[in-house]
Amino acid sequence: MEKNFKKQNVIISEEEKTLIWDDVLESFRKTFGSEIYNSWLQKISLIKEYNDYIVLGVPTRFFRDWIVSRYLDKILEQVKSFKMSLNRIEFKIIDENKQNQESLKVDELNKVTEIKDSLLNYNRLNPALSFENFISGKSNEIALSYSKKVCEHISRYNPLYLCGGVGLGKTHLLNSIGLELQDNNNVMFISAERFMYHFIKSIKKNDMVNFKDFFRKSSVFIIDDIQFISGKDSLQEEFFHTFNSLIDKGSQIIISSDRSPMKLDRVQERIKSRLAGGLVVDIESPDLELKIKIIKKKIEEIQNQFKENIILNDEVINYIASESKTNIRELIGILNRVIAFSRVHNKNLNISDCKNILKDVFSQIKVITVDKIQNAVSNYFNISLSEMLSQRRSRPLARPRQIAMFLAKKMTSRSLPEIGRRFANRDHTTVIHAVKTITRLSEQDDEMKKNINQIKSLLIE
Ligand code: ADP
Ligand code: MG
Repeated sequence: MEKNFKKQNVIISEEEKTLIWDDVLESFRKTFGSEIYNSWLQKISLIKEYNDYIVLGVPTRFFRDWIVSRYLDKILEQVKSFKMSLNRIEFKIIDENKQNQESLKVDELNKVTEIKDSLLNYNRLNPALSFENFISGKSNEIALSYSKKVCEHISRYNPLYLCGGVGLGKTHLLNSIGLELQDNNNVMFISAERFMYHFIKSIKKNDMVNFKDFFRKSSVFIIDDIQFISGKDSLQEEFFHTFNSLIDKGSQIIISSDRSPMKLDRVQERIKSRLAGGLVVDIESPDLELKIKIIKKKIEEIQNQFKENIILNDEVINYIASESKTNIRELIGILNRVIAFSRVHNKNLNISDCKNILKDVFSQIKVITVDKIQNAVSNYFNISLSEMLSQRRSRPLARPRQIAMFLAKKMTSRSLPEIGRRFANRDHTTVIHAVKTITRLSEQDDEMKKNINQIKSLLIE
């Protein structure tokens, strides 16, 4: 680990390069499906590999924005499964003519870091997530209105705490506040997870002074998904001090979480009461009306971007809105699926087309948890759950354990460390090893492939 931190941003030697881009592309195809892969991801090339980030080549600015706004998180997650030290992806727009010349000249490559405008930093605010693009409805209008008020009167509601379930627009609102305020303020926008990453990195580099300065100099501090600090005591300690010193100097703090402050698990009481000390606003699940509004707006956006007509009749729109039950991220995912289909097949869809397209999607959306996976796998192999989670290494236990870890990574949104914890507190590197092993075996071994498919279908049935 130490080695990684020291070598940050340093170009690594040929032998240290670990990414085989074709493998990564193949994983994109599997994760995103052939339609998205063929239209978009296939065209991404690997330009440069650094220890902690990579530079990817894309054909146009529009292409880059499209990928970044829709798939960046998942792309990063996928590439990370091949290269753990990665924490950032940058994009370079490659002139198509040059792209055809096999490889770029070395001195051209060296210019990459200097061409600031064509590089997109993973950490920056996303211009697509603005107030303008945020559609309001009953479930989110209060959150929207206070987010705007914060922009008018800094530190009137301090902190502003937005809470709501996954995919309901919290990050979108935080990002909008950041965009609105960034011209006249020193805005810091970071997820609690990234905050921790920087924190640990600074401890390792013995550089806490810089860390403290860096975060405490902001006049607007926006932190996403604060629930992540659960159970991490030293991180909480640091956050508490950062929080207090920012409030003392009159900086605005905006926080999001999947639950209200008092319901945060394994978080110090003094932090909870600090978090609850400003204004706490809920975002609820969208009603039908809001979902329809969002679908129509998205269609309009896509039409403008592609300069092409997408026709979904009201009946189809209503169907999509009423079928997607849980959240807006899912709704947009489903809509993209339907639109991709109608573009590829060049036809106007009716309800029964939609039903067919979405059959798969809905079964994937059925909530699959690590617990369910562990139960399904242990039942399938006829071993007990405690045997599967035990430290014993005999193959009849170790393989199912690895399969369960693999499925947990593929079928839930849990991070590697979280999955490790649920397997009797194993380290995330054990999970990575399991994922790699099973990925390889399921490609080579038909029996393994069959087992995995059967367990999967038991889970989504
Ligand atoms: P959360 O952070 O609460 O999990 P996000 O902010 O990431 O959710 O929202 C998920 C997706 O839904 C994003 O693509 C976001 O732009 C979109 N979205 C959520 N709410 C709205 C809204 N009211 N209007 C337009 N898009 C929205
Ligand atoms: Mg979010």
